[in-house]
Amino acid sequence: MRAKVDPKFCMGDRNCNLVCPEVFRYDENTLMSTVIQDPVPKHLEDKVQKAAFECGAKAISIEE
Ligand code: SF4
Repeated sequence: MRAKVDPKFCMGDRNCNLVCPEVFRYDENTLMSTVIQDPVPKHLEDKVQKAAFECGAKAISIEE
């Protein structure tokens, strides 16, 4: 699995970082989240799915 954050849509509410900090890092300078593990490790796939589902801005896309 691969995950991406689209900076055009990220509104920086940090939700993904709270759900799965192992994959989504919040950048205090840009006020946006970025993906720091690509591909996503198997054991974190469920958490990444949850983070994407809970992203109100729909900024997270997932490729299986
Ligand atoms: S949950 Fe979505 S909008 Fe919020 S910081 Fe993460 S990618 Fe950005």
